[in-house]
Amino acid sequence: MKIDLHVHSSERSTCATSTEEEQIQAAIACGLDAMVFTDHGRLVPQARLEALNRKYAPFRIFGGVEITLEEREDVLVLGIQDPALEGQWTYPELHTFVRECSGWIALAHPFRYHPDIVIDVAQYPPDALEGCSTNVALLNRPRIRDAAKQLGIPVVCNSDAHVTRSLGVGYNLLKETPADEAALVRLLRIGAFIGVCMIT
Ligand SMILES: [Zn+2]
Ligand SMILES: [Zn+2]
Repeated sequence: MKIDLHVHSSERSTCATSTEEEQIQAAIACGLDAMVFTDHGRLVPQARLEALNRKYAPFRIFGGVEITLEEREDVLVLGIQDPALEGQWTYPELHTFVRECSGWIALAHPFRYHPDIVIDVAQYPPDALEGCSTNVALLNRPRIRDAAKQLGIPVVCNSDAHVTRSLGVGYNLLKETPADEAALVRLLRIGAFIGVCMIT
């Protein structure tokens, strides 16, 4: 199953210009099987997620969130529906919360805002680093792979699409098809996927 773990929609991200349905249709058109909405500080309402999944089945739509930490790094969180995620977080607090809730946490576009990773990923290792997306500079990709290797965690490839034409830039090929969101989180946490980047 091909899944993009980082997509925005204009319904919940003011910086996005395509609607959630436009993003879903673009993901289907470029051959993806599933995607995760990760809007800035906003979860997808559960009823909306269920309606979208009914309408676009067998395509799968999951609800995550992108959180800008107080340290000014962005992280992706999946597998938790608690509205507390829409608040302010420091990285150690959020990491602890995600672990307690058995969720998944990844650092989005490392080195985008700072020359180094400014959160303590050694003491609080995330589940993945994002190694490819429209907001990952080509020159940072080798550093991200090295950092992930040092931490012993995988690299995910996504689009970070704010507009339909960005869909397909990166995706992750899961080794199994997850039955539900909890199963998706388990596959991601054990690294049962291959990140595929289409930008060269
Ligand atoms: Zn944005
Ligand atoms: Zn994003």
